[in-house]
Amino acid sequence: MAVALEIHFFVAALREEDAPLPDRAPQSADRERYGYGGEAEELLLVRRGSEELWVPYSGETDAELDAIIEEARERTEAPAVGQPERRRRPPLRGLLAGIVLLSALAGLFWVVESRSGWNGLDSDARAAATARFSREASVVAEKPVTIRCDEAGDYVGAVQHADGVALVGGDLAYLTPERCLALYRLAFKREKRPNQTARAIAVLAHEAWHLRGVSNEGVTECYGLQSGVALGQRLGLSAESARAMMRRQLVENARRGETSPAYRVPAECRDGGRFDLEPRTSRFP
Ligand SMILES: [Zn+2]
Repeated sequence: MAVALEIHFFVAALREEDAPLPDRAPQSADRERYGYGGEAEELLLVRRGSEELWVPYSGETDAELDAIIEEARERTEAPAVGQPERRRRPPLRGLLAGIVLLSALAGLFWVVESRSGWNGLDSDARAAATARFSREASVVAEKPVTIRCDEAGDYVGAVQHADGVALVGGDLAYLTPERCLALYRLAFKREKRPNQTARAIAVLAHEAWHLRGVSNEGVTECYGLQSGVALGQRLGLSAESARAMMRRQLVENARRGETSPAYRVPAECRDGGRFDLEPRTSRFP
């Protein structure tokens, strides 16, 4: 949108620069307004400094002509109809307007981003949140592990196309700020947003299973979605809500599996299947 606006300003400024000069002949509007320029009269273009006046002329003497010019000048104090004052806007002004607008948009984005994102939370809130995520991940990993939020984007994010990263069998995992924020909102503010909350729980559980020692992505995801039900409840969801969210994630996994087959859960990821963590129950996940 900003780029489109910039182009609009630029093109508009260029076009204005190239606008043709107005027709200098007396316009029909002038003829009507001043009542001259009829068949019998000749019109004379008179220049006076920067002014240009059309005056009717039919052989008057110099003195008479001066009076006529003076009269015409008074009448043309206001710009003639149909001959608007030519506005000159150099392209630079259009460009500047574009730059100012872009800067304002960028500034607004920065303010909204820094106040509303994970990085907008104060350091105490972030420390309390990551301590909580670490405790919950430790339950899933069955050993003490640490969860950090990758604020600088060094480990996870746009480049790696991942929401989290963990060393298999290790004790440290990173989540993207986006996932951390969704988990924070749920655990500390009791806020849930259907897709974001569900995905964040699934990612935390997924990384915890990597730390527990599972390397296969599909199997890790399968275990993660099952552990996500209890994890979601510990973070504040009702049992039904947590289960519905993880079931939905399992459905979406099949869809995502088309673009990233490595993350697709195996066929045995089903009730009573090889990867069912609770084979005696008929619930899955
Ligand atoms: Zn993974």
